Amino acid sequence: MAEEFDVVVVGAGNAALCAALAASEQGARVLVLERAPEAESGGNSRFTAGGFRFTYNGVEDLQRLMPDLTAQEIANTDFGSYTADQFFDDMFRVTSYRTDPGLCEQLVRRSFETMLWLQSKGVRFVPMYGRQAFKTGSKFKFWGGVTVESWGGGPGLVDQEIAAARKAGVAIRYNARVVSLLYDGAAVVGVRVKESAGLSEIRSRAVVLACGGFESNSEWRTRYLGPGWELAKVRGTRFNTGDGIRMAFDIGASSHGHWSGCHAVGWDHNAPEFGDLSVGDGFQKHSYQFGIMVNAHGRRFVDEGADIRNYTYAKYGRVILSQPDQFAWQVFDRKMLHLLRDEYRIRRVTKVTADTLEKLAQKLEGVNPSAFLDEVRRFNAAVQTDVPFNPTIKDGRGTVGLDIPKSNWANTIDEPPFEAYQVGCGITFTFGGLRVTPNSAQVIDTDLEPIPGLYAAGEIVGGFFYFNYPSGTGLTTGAVMGRIAGDSAAKAARPSESAVRVLAS
Ligand SMILES: Cc1cc2nc3c(=O)[nH]c(=O)nc-3n(C[C@H](O)[C@H](O)[C@H](O)COP(=O)(O)OP(=O)(O)OC[C@H]3O[C@@H](n4cnc5c(N)ncnc54)[C@H](O)[C@@H]3O)c2cc1C
Repeated sequence: MAEEFDVVVVGAGNAALCAALAASEQGARVLVLERAPEAESGGNSRFTAGGFRFTYNGVEDLQRLMPDLTAQEIANTDFGSYTADQFFDDMFRVTSYRTDPGLCEQLVRRSFETMLWLQSKGVRFVPMYGRQAFKTGSKFKFWGGVTVESWGGGPGLVDQEIAAARKAGVAIRYNARVVSLLYDGAAVVGVRVKESAGLSEIRSRAVVLACGGFESNSEWRTRYLGPGWELAKVRGTRFNTGDGIRMAFDIGASSHGHWSGCHAVGWDHNAPEFGDLSVGDGFQKHSYQFGIMVNAHGRRFVDEGADIRNYTYAKYGRVILSQPDQFAWQVFDRKMLHLLRDEYRIRRVTKVTADTLEKLAQKLEGVNPSAFLDEVRRFNAAVQTDVPFNPTIKDGRGTVGLDIPKSNWANTIDEPPFEAYQVGCGITFTFGGLRVTPNSAQVIDTDLEPIPGLYAAGEIVGGFFYFNYPSGTGLTTGAVMGRIAGDSAAKAARPSESAVRVLAS
């Protein structure tokens, strides 16, 4: 006899756990199947800093989400606001106006209520002072639309969601890799799962696929993102190999979104092939806007200060991958060292220091030293030192006359000590995925008809992001769409009231 549940959720990251919580809220019997062993469970969600982007109209909204905010924190902080218009503008601008309007509408309009919903389930939030605010004068000022993180970062988020799911009666099985969908030709009626005892079938009235993209599958990366992508390092879990996408395609699901696009960042050149939970997101190096980046030819190759860091970092990994030998060095002088993020001070870091630029040039492995010194000289001469430096806004302190300008936060590199960090490309997640209905997260087939019994949420869904991504949006997307998917799946799994009346009569 096959086991039977109302809703089976595939994966145990943020999107999956939100789906499970929403489904159980509707009274459904829910089973979560997670491919990873428990110690490595939680997907990319566990690797995050737990930063969420959502709309809020001022500190009053934040107080609803974080009742623990102290009077002192409120007095000492300019939290600003992040309106729906700003969120829409950011999504459309960074995706070159390609984000799916229906999906984007759900994301933006439901972002704040979904945060409150997560809080009601027991997830605690705190202000993200460390990475998203700078102190100017006596006050901290938030600057980039990501003001809040889950308590305990990504691990804290997943652990709190797991606790909430267990409390709600959700069953969770680890080392359980779903390999295919059970499909009777009209509807999805369960899954086939591989566990230590072998293959088995689990029947259900609905299935939610929340098992990530294909960033950890080097063959698919090369096939869809292009040559060279097999050389990228994976920032997060090794378990997101595109299984969910493949099994949905096997029954006729439609693809959607930017299949040759992905989120990829500057990541320690010597980081391991996959993410390491003991380091988390620490291999990233996200303060490049305060220095310069040079390639093997000693040359700058990108505008490090084109925009606020939150709107450039996710596309610069691709730019680094396309440099000779796929690396770059980020270079800073004394003036900027106090602004470097915490990840620059971890133990496992590829870093060199020197008290002269000439000595530094000799230490930059793989770089032409004389070309580098020449590049720094030209850069220093081009900096508009008469414009005030301000890290909390796009300060317009740029360069003049360079082929590759630096548009903001330009500072001469001339005061020792000098520090340099070697980065390669770290892929975070892929943008292409399944097509779903925005209102119910139901998977759509290639005839553009919804597939009965099949729902999807999180990175597996295509259509949100093209070319680029505003930071902190992945967790919000997963939470919003996970909640919608779980809710819809549970309602579809429940016999309708009229059917119950017919049966009863
Ligand atoms: C280092 C790092 C830092 C990040 N920081 C942030 C941040 O601060 N804020 C933010 O918004 N986003 C951040 N992101 C992006 C964010 O992690 C994702 O957008 C989000 O977590 C995706 O959630 P998900 O539930 O869709 O996928 P995941 O969390 O990756 O979950 C997918 C799950 O599916 C499971 N799975 C895969 N295949 C199968 C199968 N066949 N059967 C069963 N289970 C399967 C996996 O084991 C995993 O548990 C970061 C990502 C990384 C890697």
